[in-house]
Amino acid sequence: MIERQDLIKNGKFLIIAGPCAVESEEQAYSVATTLREMGVQVFRSALWKPRSSKDSFQGVGLAGLPWLRRIKEDLGMLIATEFVDKDQINPTREIVDVPWVGSRNMQNFELLKALGDETDQRPVMLKRGVASTVKEWLQSADYIGRERVILCERGVRTGTDSTRYTLDLNGALVAKHDHNMPVLADPSHAAGRRDLIPNLSLAIAASGLDGIIIEVHKNPDQALCDGPQQITPETFREVLGQIGAIHRVLNAQSDEVLMAQR
Ligand code: PEP
Ligand code: MN
Repeated sequence: MIERQDLIKNGKFLIIAGPCAVESEEQAYSVATTLREMGVQVFRSALWKPRSSKDSFQGVGLAGLPWLRRIKEDLGMLIATEFVDKDQINPTREIVDVPWVGSRNMQNFELLKALGDETDQRPVMLKRGVASTVKEWLQSADYIGRERVILCERGVRTGTDSTRYTLDLNGALVAKHDHNMPVLADPSHAAGRRDLIPNLSLAIAASGLDGIIIEVHKNPDQALCDGPQQITPETFREVLGQIGAIHRVLNAQSDEVLMAQR
């Protein structure tokens, strides 16, 4: 089992990538293979999808667990996935390295308490609620145990209607610097449109946060959810190169900055 300190390292930039949701074995395995070839270590994809509309794709659920197992075992990737209910923790324990709590459940306190089980050492990614303050975000982290939490800024709701949400780098930096927490950012959900992802990724890398989580799909236009914001592996490759360049400037001493390789 990995722990938070295995993922968050001074001067390194954690990259988590993968499709919004697991749709089929072939869809997940194929994009995971491509990402692994690019050096990505942590694969993200959701089995359970909390959707605003009951008519939207709800996720494949436990049926997709063997597909994630294959990615973990054959490709040697770490698996990050979202839990929307505490009953999902036990059946997935052997496969899921980085459980995460999505923005809609940031204040699902029973879920947070269940994830805070002291016998569990896994890092937990806690995404910020769409209208949560930094204080509320940290209070939620306390339910899990701050020392295991990796925060993730994923955009908050503001007066703008030109993008899905607004990436609050201010709040992310306050959480990091004032509260000494590792913080990632998610440009995909913040923007909701794929054309903005490369530039937002540069901003995130330059901000000095600890890493990024990006949605990547081989055929975004056919994706069962969040198609408009998912980028192709080709675009992701360019983004990786640019992030690497920024980090080489920021950490001029270090030549190994991308925490993508194992
Ligand atoms: C996700 O990461 O797939 C997701 C649903 O994000 P959020 O909870 O931030 O909306
Ligand atoms: Mn998504």
